[in-house]
Amino acid sequence: MSPSTISLITRAQEHGQRRALVTSDGAFTYEQLLQGATATAHTLLAGDNDLAERRIAFLVPPGLDYVRVQWGIWLAGGLAVPLCLVHPEPELAYVIDDAQVDTIVVHPDFVDRVKGIASERELRLLSTTELDSSTTQSALPDIDPARRAMMLYTSGSTGRPKGVVTTHHNIEAQITSLVEAWEWSADDCILHTLPLHHIHGVINVLGCSLWAGATCHMLPKFDAKQVWDYLAGGELTLYMAVPTIYAKLISAYDDASPEQQAKWSDGAANLRLMVSGSAALPVSVLEKWRGLTGHTLLERYGMTEIGMGISNPLKGERRPGHIGQPLPHVEARLADEQGGVIAQPTAETSGEIQIKGAVVFREYWNRPDATAEAFTDDGWFKTGDVAVLDDGYYRILGRSSVDIIKTGGYKVSALEIEEVLRTHPAIRDCAVVGVPDDEWGERVCLAAALTPGQSLDLAGLRSWGKQHLAAYKVPQSLKVLDDLPRNAMGKVTKPQVRELFQAVLE
Ligand code: ATP
Ligand code: MG
Repeated sequence: MSPSTISLITRAQEHGQRRALVTSDGAFTYEQLLQGATATAHTLLAGDNDLAERRIAFLVPPGLDYVRVQWGIWLAGGLAVPLCLVHPEPELAYVIDDAQVDTIVVHPDFVDRVKGIASERELRLLSTTELDSSTTQSALPDIDPARRAMMLYTSGSTGRPKGVVTTHHNIEAQITSLVEAWEWSADDCILHTLPLHHIHGVINVLGCSLWAGATCHMLPKFDAKQVWDYLAGGELTLYMAVPTIYAKLISAYDDASPEQQAKWSDGAANLRLMVSGSAALPVSVLEKWRGLTGHTLLERYGMTEIGMGISNPLKGERRPGHIGQPLPHVEARLADEQGGVIAQPTAETSGEIQIKGAVVFREYWNRPDATAEAFTDDGWFKTGDVAVLDDGYYRILGRSSVDIIKTGGYKVSALEIEEVLRTHPAIRDCAVVGVPDDEWGERVCLAAALTPGQSLDLAGLRSWGKQHLAAYKVPQSLKVLDDLPRNAMGKVTKPQVRELFQAVLE
């Protein structure tokens, strides 16, 4: 294979015989990934010279096939659209239609989920068992790194997911910024337990690992005990997950025997770094995790549109409840509600985070208006997330659309209220939303999942709340749920929470 213009693939050529992946099917070298990817590219091309940014969707579980399909699409000049393994058919159809996909590559275990979609639309459906083309073509196309490479859909926390298009350049920038900040090397070994249709799992874990020449262990699905055994197993140097995963690991730990707990704690202490992101990390989870493993989780902030933007440091103070400072080669600033840049931000001046750098995506697919709307006149990306700069560290107050509640003339942060309410003994987890209200503008409403054996009513909540929060921040409505509504990334879907209260009020 001649040197590629796709830098992730050039790097893999250099890593050659190193161990790239370890899966339930065995271990695979970088060379094996490249061989598989090249054969996949030829199969996808099927006689064409270049896929020319045609959208190729793939529904493939973690493992060798996932990487060979992703890379195969890139080598053939296509635009890779990974699909979510747990999405039901209508959600897959939404992405396939929205992305204007023409080919779907599917693992045999998932074929029933997309067979109907493909035949209705007359799309090419390829099984991962058919990727070793017998036709060997002379050459693969030359790929300009400015070409569109990947489309990841946003999590759909605030509305319908949007297709976020990144180029090979963007992907390289997103990966290299993290490789530099977190000092990834070929000696690293990571356990992958995140979905592979979302930026966190695709870039931060898999992308960085393969770039660095490290080894990535992949599990077919998340299992808390198995993850603990891995963490304690002596091989891993890194682990990255979302707050809900850390919460699940903590509860599996609480259920384990004292001998088991001691083994897990001692072993996990040996990793060099553990990271949390994709949603706000409750300080209670950070503290509990530190107690169990000795690790202060490194919390960082990112989005599908920018990769990672702001992070607590690898070395130096990791401040609970804060997201840190801009990552290498990323610029960040805060802007007020009129769009004016806040020159000297402080803990009192909240503003929207805006981001600039090669990490920033190219466009929302097929949504030129949304793309134009998302950038300032001077080319900064408007994240829609509100933060303050508190003693040199950014602290997120939440999304302007769902987490910043305007009530009784005040602007309050749902995330701050949630953080306080999580310290209530009856509250296991919670989500605060603002619901339109004639008197208050918006009223503060709480959806709570309770600690087993505990109960909570509104009067009790309000009297406790008044001792811990300013009166206007104390929830005026309460709904007790078995579990909070979450999307495939484990993030609370606030519009759904809001609907619960709107239904009550109407
Ligand atoms: P959608 O855009 O479809 O509504 P989404 O914004 O959740 O969904 P993602 O791109 O997966 O889709 O998530 C990015 C968002 O996640 C950020 O804009 C921010 O609101 C939130 N986020 C990420 N990291 C953190 C963090 N450390 N603390 C708080 N929020 C975070
Ligand atoms: Mg978003």
